[in-house]
Amino acid sequence: MQHIAVLTSGGDAPGMNAAIRAVVRTGLYHNMQVSGSVAGYEGLINNEFRDMNSASVGNIIQRGGTILKTARSKRFMTPEGRKQAYENLKARGIEGLVVIGGDGSFRGAEVLATEYPDIRVIGIPGTIDNDLFGTDFTIGYDTAINTVVEAVDNIRDTASSHNRLFFVEVMGRDAGLIALRSGIAVGAEAILIPETQTHVDKLIAQLERGWKRQKSGHVIIVAEGDDAGGAFKIAELVQQKFDKLETKVAILGHIQRGGNPTCMDRVLATRLGYESVEALLAGKNRVMVGQKAGKVEFTPLSQAVKHIMDVNDTILKMAEIMSL
Ligand code: ADP
Repeated sequence: MQHIAVLTSGGDAPGMNAAIRAVVRTGLYHNMQVSGSVAGYEGLINNEFRDMNSASVGNIIQRGGTILKTARSKRFMTPEGRKQAYENLKARGIEGLVVIGGDGSFRGAEVLATEYPDIRVIGIPGTIDNDLFGTDFTIGYDTAINTVVEAVDNIRDTASSHNRLFFVEVMGRDAGLIALRSGIAVGAEAILIPETQTHVDKLIAQLERGWKRQKSGHVIIVAEGDDAGGAFKIAELVQQKFDKLETKVAILGHIQRGGNPTCMDRVLATRLGYESVEALLAGKNRVMVGQKAGKVEFTPLSQAVKHIMDVNDTILKMAEIMSL
């Protein structure tokens, strides 16, 4: 294999740049030509590639986002779009493709490699949601939860100065992993997640208790997909029966996607980037490279699908005890 391409696709995540850098430098080490497709699958279809050299990935390991840009490509969902992509890859002599993204991007890679078996594909899990089967952590998740922790620490300063009740909404439409982990780390008074039923009365009883013992400020973390609604909805329900504290809502939104990757994400991205190229050279195809219990593991792309991690009952109990 003499020429490979790398792309970032779907939702961006901090650490994607570190992964691009690792793919490029490992490819160059093996005397391969490395091209970067601009804006994910769109670049393959538009024939928009960048020649990557060592300097082109210099000074990016610490930067969030992706220097190669990312996109959602409707055209790649069609056989005509993928045919165009294949022809462009073929004309350049590209035989291997590294796709950094989430499960949608992996479905695209799987379809391409099935239709055109002379292109080999490897997936690298890059998404802040940590919701992929085949890896303990996805690139970007650690940074996202640390961003939440930093933001909520700031919110708590003002919450306790004014004795306010804050509802802070964090990402997690289907899963409460970000809420649960960051909620534990910020010492949240309650953590509301889709996996457990939210009882507004129980929440109010808890707030009453805290108020009686003159707790200074309350912070409740709400996953956006909580069964009782988002932070605005729950705040409204609580306010109807509990008006002793001034109530505020903060939606963290897109700040959770950006920012400089943490050490953990940079190292994970470097490791998986390196392993993806080694895997291509070893003849692997249609697999995602992940890390499980500290070891590198490969999972067929067809199985590297959205996977909602089970919420551990002991962790839930622990979080509740800490907020008493
Ligand atoms: P993520 O990778 O973050 O899950 P998306 O679900 O938006 O993001 O997928 C990214 C892109 O992958 C899509 O815009 C599309 O181009 C491609 N893709 C997703 N599913 C398929 C599919 N079944 N066939 C072909 N391409 C797909």
